[in-house]
Amino acid sequence: MRDAPFCRHLIAAIGRDSMRRSDSSADAVYLMHWKFRGPVASFFPHHCEPKSIPHIHRMTLLCVPLVAKTVEQMMADMAAAKARGADLVEIRLDHLSDFEPRRDLHLLVGDRPLPVLVTYRPKWEGGEYEGDDKQRFEALCLAMELGAEYVDVELKVADDFVRLISEKKPDNFKLIISSHNYQSTPSSEELSSLVARIQAAGADIVKIATTAVDIVDVPMIGLVMGERGLISRLLCPKFGGYLTFGTLGVGKESAPGQPTISDLLNVYNIRQIGADTKIFGIVGKPVGHSKSPVLLNAAFKSVGLDAVYVPLLVDDLVNFLNAYSSTDFAGFSCTIPHKEAAVGCCDKVDPIAKSIGAVNTIIRRPSDGKLIGYNTDYVGAISAIEDGIRGSQGVGKETVSPLAGKVFVIIGAGGAGKALAYGAKEKGAKVVIANRTYERARELANLIGGHALTLAELETFHPEDGMILANTTSIGMQPNVNETPISKLALGSYSVVFDAVYTPKATRLLREAEESGATVVSGLEMFIRQAMGQFELFTNLTAPENLMRDTAMRYT
Ligand code: NAP
Repeated sequence: MRDAPFCRHLIAAIGRDSMRRSDSSADAVYLMHWKFRGPVASFFPHHCEPKSIPHIHRMTLLCVPLVAKTVEQMMADMAAAKARGADLVEIRLDHLSDFEPRRDLHLLVGDRPLPVLVTYRPKWEGGEYEGDDKQRFEALCLAMELGAEYVDVELKVADDFVRLISEKKPDNFKLIISSHNYQSTPSSEELSSLVARIQAAGADIVKIATTAVDIVDVPMIGLVMGERGLISRLLCPKFGGYLTFGTLGVGKESAPGQPTISDLLNVYNIRQIGADTKIFGIVGKPVGHSKSPVLLNAAFKSVGLDAVYVPLLVDDLVNFLNAYSSTDFAGFSCTIPHKEAAVGCCDKVDPIAKSIGAVNTIIRRPSDGKLIGYNTDYVGAISAIEDGIRGSQGVGKETVSPLAGKVFVIIGAGGAGKALAYGAKEKGAKVVIANRTYERARELANLIGGHALTLAELETFHPEDGMILANTTSIGMQPNVNETPISKLALGSYSVVFDAVYTPKATRLLREAEESGATVVSGLEMFIRQAMGQFELFTNLTAPENLMRDTAMRYT
C-alpha cells in the first residue's frame, strides 16, 4: 500500500508551521486552512494524532473555474457563476484564444461581478499557455494592479514572480503559489517538504493538487484530482480547505475530477458541511453511475442530519477500510464488485447477510468503532417483486408470497444475485441460477438448494410457463444500454421479469419483457427500498419514503 499517512504527517507539520507563520504574518492563509477539533483529530490513527491543533474556523469558498475561449463568454460565465452561488471565479487566461492583456483584463478584472482568482497556466504545468514567462508575468501583474483578489503562480517560477510584485502588492491581494502533479500523490515526506518550499517562496495561500491513483492516496486537505480524488473536493469544508472548485457544467472543468457547482450545492449540500459532519458513502467500482448520493443526501437534509453521502471509487476494499478508519466515516453502502468481499471485512455480520454471503451496508458502531455488516438488497428486491406481482393481479398483501412454488430464475451469482436467491428461497420459490461463470452459479445453487445453468442453457430453459426472471448482472447498465442478458424469444416463458439495473430505468430487458406480455418490475423500485433500509440503519430514523421516491424519480 502507498504511503497513506501523508495527511496525518502533513497536517501535523503544517499545523505547526501555520502557527509559526501566524505569529509573523497576520494574513497568512492556506488552501489547506485549519479548523481541526477533537473529532477531526480522531480521523488519524492513534499513533500519529497531531498533538497540538490550531483552532481556526472559516468557510470553504466555492470557486468556479472559467475556461471559455472568448472574453465575452467568460463574462457571461462569470455572471452565471454568481447566479448559481459561487463565491469567486478562477479566470484561466491560458484558455482565451486571442488574449490581449491590456484590452481584455480591464474588462475581465475591471468589470468583475465576483472576486477573481487569475491564473495563466503554462503547458509545462498542465495549462494551455506556450509563450515566455515575461509576458505571462506582466499580464498577472496587471491583473493584480487592476484589483484581482488572487493570482496563482507556479512554484517553479514563484521566486521570479514574487520579486516582480514585491513592491506593488496591494493590502487585500493574496498570492497563491501552486504545485500540480498529474501523475500521482507523492509520499508524506515529499509533500511536507513541498509545503515548506511553497511557504518559503512567499505564498499567502498554498495550493497543492495531486492525482489519486488509489482512493487511499487522498489526503483530507488539498485537492486531489481524478475520480478517485473527488472526496477531497467534496469534503473540503469538513477538513478546512480554503476553497474548492465547482464547474458551470460537465465539460467545463479546468482539472480532472471537478464536480459541478450545482452538484456541490444541491446534491452534496456543501454549505452545510462542517467539522462535525459525519461522512457516509457508496463504495464501488464503477460508482459514478450511482444515484445513492442524490437519494441519501436529500434524505439526510430532510431530517436535518449533519451528514454527507459521497461516491467512493474503491479498487481494494481492505486498503480502503484500513485507511478510512476514523469514526468520522460513519457508514458505507457497498456495490459492484465489493459486496462479497465486504462480508470478510466486517467485525460482525448480521445473520441474514451472512447467509446471503453479501453485505451492502456497513455501519461503524459509534461505541467501539467496529464495522457491522447488513444486507438491505434482499428485502428491497423481494418486496418490490412481490408487490409488482400483487399489483398486476389486483390482490392485496396476503400471508402467502406470490413467489411460493414458482420457478424463479436468477441471472448472476454476485452480491445482488445471492440476495435474491436467498430471498426467493425463503419465500418458497424453486430457485435456478444462471451465470457467466458457471462454477459460481453451481456454488450458489448448492448453497441454497437450487439448480444451476450456463447462460447458453438459459436460452432454451422452459420447464413450465409463467416463470419469474430476475437479472442481477450489470448487463444493460449505462453506457451499454443496448445489451440484454437473454433473447426476446426466450422471454416468452416468463410472466414476471425483474431487472436489478436501474440506470436506465427502462432497460432493454424490461422493454422486451413488456412487449412479450410479462409483468415488469424495475430495479428502481429495489433501489428505493434498499436505500430506505440503508437510511434507517445509518440514522436509526424512519426513512422519508415520499421524498426518497420523488428524488429517485427525478434523477433517473
Ligand atoms: P457483483 O457482485 O460484482 O456481481 C456481478 C454479476 O454480474 C456476476 O454474476 C457476474 O458474472 C455478472 N456479470 C458482470 N458482467 C457480466 C457480463 N458482461 N456478462 C455476463 N455476466 C456478467 O455485482 P452486484 O453488486 O451483484 O451488482 C450487479 C448489478 O446489480 C449491478 O448492475 C448493480 O448496479 C445492480 N444492483 C442494483 C441494485 C438496485 O437497488 N436496483 C442493488 C444492487 C445491485 P461472473 O460471476 O461471471 O463474474
